[in-house]
Parts: sequence; C-alpha cells; structure tokens
Amino acid sequence: MFSKVLIANRGEIAVRIIAACRELGIATVAVHSEADRECLHVKLADQSVCIGPPPSDASYLDVSSVMSAAQITGADAIHPGYGFLAENAHFAEVVGECGLTFIGPPPDAIRLMGNKAQARQSVAAAEVPVVPGSERALANRDEAVDLARAIGYPVILKASAGGGGRGMRMATGEGELRAAYDTARSEAERAFGDDSVYLEKYLVRPRHIEFQVLADSRGRIIHLGERECSIQRRHQKIIEESPSPALSPELRDEMGRAAVAAARAAKYLNAGTVEFLLAEDGSYYFMEMNTRIQVEHPVTELVTGVDLVKEQLRIAAGEPMSIPKRRQVVASGHAIEFRINAEDPNTFAPSPGRISHLSLPGGPGVRVDTHLYSGYTIPSHYDSLMAKLLVWGADRDEAIVRGRRALEMFRVEGVKTSIPLHLKILGEEDFQAGRLSTHFMDRYAQ
Ligand code: ADP
Repeated sequence: MFSKVLIANRGEIAVRIIAACRELGIATVAVHSEADRECLHVKLADQSVCIGPPPSDASYLDVSSVMSAAQITGADAIHPGYGFLAENAHFAEVVGECGLTFIGPPPDAIRLMGNKAQARQSVAAAEVPVVPGSERALANRDEAVDLARAIGYPVILKASAGGGGRGMRMATGEGELRAAYDTARSEAERAFGDDSVYLEKYLVRPRHIEFQVLADSRGRIIHLGERECSIQRRHQKIIEESPSPALSPELRDEMGRAAVAAARAAKYLNAGTVEFLLAEDGSYYFMEMNTRIQVEHPVTELVTGVDLVKEQLRIAAGEPMSIPKRRQVVASGHAIEFRINAEDPNTFAPSPGRISHLSLPGGPGVRVDTHLYSGYTIPSHYDSLMAKLLVWGADRDEAIVRGRRALEMFRVEGVKTSIPLHLKILGEEDFQAGRLSTHFMDRYAQ
C-alpha cells in the first residue's frame, strides 16, 4: 500500500479522500490555492503545500505545480478527486512518468472515454446500445442535416470533448440545426479547445441512470448497481438516488452487464461510472463513461456498504478489490443524495460568503460529506457545492421522510443555500411517486 498520497483537489472530495487514507494508515498531502488556506482539507491533511493563486488555471489545474508539491513532499501516489485534473490523460501520464501512481484508470482509457464520439464507437463495437446518431465526429453541416433527416428530429449536437453539461445544443428542425451547428462548434472550441461535434437523437423525457463499476488489475470488472440522477438543472445533477424506481431486477442485470462490457472495451481499471439514458419505453442507451470517482458515489456506498475510495486506493496499489464478484455485492435499502450549493434557491445565483453559523443534521441513516465549518468563508473562485447530504432508509418512502427531516435540521447562516429547493422537490407528488425524468426541473424557473 502507499505510504503517502497527495490529493490534487479541494473541498469536500479532498476531505473524503483524507478519510479513506486515514483508515488505511496512509499519510496525506493537501494542495491548496491562496484562496483556500483556511479550507478544511488543508487543516485535516498531514502536510499541505500552497500551489498558486486563486484561479484554478494557476493552481489546481497547473500540472507542474501539483507535481512539484508531490515531489517535495515525497508522495508516492496522487488522487485527483473529480473535476480539475481528474480526467486529464496528460496529467495521468506525467504522474506515471515521474514514478508516482495515478489513482485512477490508465491514460489510454481516460483518453478514449474523454472523446465522446470515440467512446460511442468503441462501446457500440462491444454491442452496448448507443443513442442513434453519428458514428464519429461530423465532417460538416450537410452531414449533420442528412443524418438528422435519417434518424428524425429532435436531435442534439454534442461537443466530442464535452463535459459538465456544457457544449450541447438541441434542434427540433432543419433550420434550427443549421444555425446550431456553427454555434455548437464555436462553443466547443472555446470551452474545450476542440471544435469537433457529433449528433444524437434527442430522447424525450428520458431518465439518467448510471452504473458504478470497479475494475482491478486481476482483470475483474464488476458493477455495484445504479444511481438515478434524473433531477438535473441545465444538465447538472441536483438529487441522486439508488436504487432507481424505474428498474426491474432484470433490467438492472442487463444494464449492469452492458456497463461492464463498456468498461471492458476501454480496458478499464479502477472506479468508473457508465452513464445511460433510459427511454420511456424501457430502451436504454450508453451516453458516456466518467473515468473518475463521482460526486454522487456515496449513494452507492450507502446501499452496498462498499467504501469506493478505499477500493480505488487498493486497486491503484495493485491489490485485488475486496468484493471480486458481483454476487458479493449486497444492496439494501434506499439512499438519496441532496447536493447543497451556496446559491439562491430561486434564481440559482451563486452565494459565496462567510458561514456565520453551521449545525449539521445527524441521527439514524444520515451522512454529510462537507468541508464547511462555522466561520469558514466560501471563496467565489470555485464551484458552489458546499455539502452533500445523504440519507438512507429501509425503503424509498423512509428515505424521503428522513431526507425531509435532515434538510430541516441542516442549519447554515451567512449564505443562501439550495436547502429550500430540495424541500420543495421532496414535496412534489411526482417525486414521491418516483415519476422522474431529466425534464423534472423544467417546472421551476431556470
Ligand atoms: P456531460 O458530460 O456534459 O455531463 P452528458 O452526455 O452526460 O453530458 O449529458 C448530460 C445530460 O444531458 C444528460 O443527463 C441528459 O439529461 C441530457 N442529454 C444528453 N444527451 C441526451 C439525448 N440524446 N437526449 C436527451 N437528453 C440528453
């Protein structure tokens, strides 16, 4: 096992990784920007290194600063968390070339799955259903129009290098598609430095269902069931749960097998997530694979009892995973995650600032992953996620009731939070009945 791990991230996920390292007896190094000196991960790690000014380009995304921090502290591995450098194949390569271990998949798997058009091609070859659409990046506007005519409108243009819900444009007819083509390309170029786009059929009212997979160096790949993440705003997840109210055991097995096949096609190693869209008629389609730990990973931890971050560390160290067979994964009960953001619950505008008072909920079936403490000032430079509130119940109804009481017991003063929005969603009849789709949030102001 590693003796010292550097965490190339900040906030709640850095704290989460420190917890796993502690339990495995591994020392930790935090890196931080000048804006994050007071962040909890810096206080909790065994050592810390300032790696630059507040903008992430000059700190958390600066490969040479992160590598210098690892070298001067003598770390033997780097955990990238999610976001920042987590899906940067070049970074994973540099880590390896410097003689350290990257806690994640091999660079080639990151590269393949990072190009969504190529990822589609490779999983389709493994007989995993993909959304009908282009086989590779589009050559020109006419190709887009011809293809859309063949598969039928509506369609969606996506940036090959896209992520984080950005770089997508829907079109309901030819005029719209012609106009969207140029906009999508220039947006993709600006956001990702790569203007290639591809086209898919736009599914009406789908559910977002993703499968957690683990793969170890002994060649074993298993899935740990699904998470439903249909409650989204602007393609950003807000609430996630497991199991999905929409899956029968048979469909779960079938989609789980497809997820494992997709991972196998990428020669995958470590933890990853295979995302699908599930249509109203029960057909499902591969959308993309995220080659990292996800924000919502604790949902799976609560229903399976598997510590995914510890598994990541074990696998990266060359050890076998502790649950080598799918049938050893025993799922029980129901878990829901609420992403608590520092934002106005009505306008969704970010609300950074000082937390004057904090009191966290607890009690049966409640978990809070956070870097908040009373007196902490949330900097304005990074995303607005300040805590993940997770609840577990014997069934979905109990999880919902528990979610409500935990949200009510979650007290934050000094900044606006999305807690009132979560309470509103929990009060919706459609939510309670499990009638979810990615359009659920359309009923609220966007
Ligand atoms: P990103 O990597 O930017 O998060 P994804 O490909 O995962 O992008 O898509 C994010 C969300 O966009 C999905 O969860 C879904 O709500 C919506 N979406 C993507 N593709 C389609 C599609 N073909 N039809 C309908 N909705 C889609």
